[in-house]
Amino acid sequence: MPSNVTETAPRKPRRTAKAAKEESRTALVRRARRINRELGEIYPGAHCELDYGDAFQLLVAVVLSAQTTDRRVNTVTPALFARYPDAAAMVAAQPAELESIIQPTGFFRAKTRSVVGLSQALLERFDGEVPGKLADLVTLPGVGRKTANVVLGEVFDVPGITVDTHFGRLARRFGWTTDEDPIKVEKDVAALFPRKDWTVLSHRVIFHGRRVCHSRKPACGACPIAPLCPAYGEGETDPVKAKALLKYEMAGQPGQRLKPPALPVLAVAKDTTKGPTRNAAKDVPSDPGASNNEEDAG
Ligand code: SF4
Repeated sequence: MPSNVTETAPRKPRRTAKAAKEESRTALVRRARRINRELGEIYPGAHCELDYGDAFQLLVAVVLSAQTTDRRVNTVTPALFARYPDAAAMVAAQPAELESIIQPTGFFRAKTRSVVGLSQALLERFDGEVPGKLADLVTLPGVGRKTANVVLGEVFDVPGITVDTHFGRLARRFGWTTDEDPIKVEKDVAALFPRKDWTVLSHRVIFHGRRVCHSRKPACGACPIAPLCPAYGEGETDPVKAKALLKYEMAGQPGQRLKPPALPVLAVAKDTTKGPTRNAAKDVPSDPGASNNEEDAG
């Protein structure tokens, strides 16, 4: 056990309604950007975790990633793209054969229809090429803003916020939005950050959601940004139990930094009458743990 992990669970440091109400817009923006910077240090290589060779393959991979993990998609796309590398090949495919390749990703009939449909639309309207505009991308079957923003950010260097299940959940926990609607979440978060940061912010937040801030049981007691998070305490706060929840499928990546910000910045940290400070520094493990569990799909 790392020496900086204590056996004692930190007191529950959830932000009070009053404290949440007291956070000014300026403080919210500062805290949001601080979280982004910290996540940048924790996950310096945050990136899209789907394997692809070009824009078309990324588009297909993102469509296949609905309701499953990127890891699972990456197990089927090598065979898929070896056999059907572009829109023309995909349209000419036998649906039954496509379905059998796509099957492990779930919802394979609907996904096959989307993949063939978007390939057909690319051939008919875009000369078989993936368009570089959001307005065009979202007209393709099976392609919504989330998918479009991934493709724009990855391939066309157009900044975009990818509101998948992880991003939406964490944005709400961070207090960046109160909305469930992905379009409203995207709008709320976009207003907190410079446009140039949107793509990398998305990767960092999604990385954190997959590895630490899980859907059902966030590892709060081992979370390096706990001092900045109003939702601290929603998950496991015991540092040892929390550490066991970490999912570092890429454990030990060079540069991964799991230590907390030096200073708690939430207003509640100064309010000693209403609970503990947010500084969980002593409770955060110094190494990323090494669980190779399947990443959290939702
Ligand atoms: S793990 Fe807990 S403290 Fe960390 S970001 Fe998620 S809810 Fe906040």
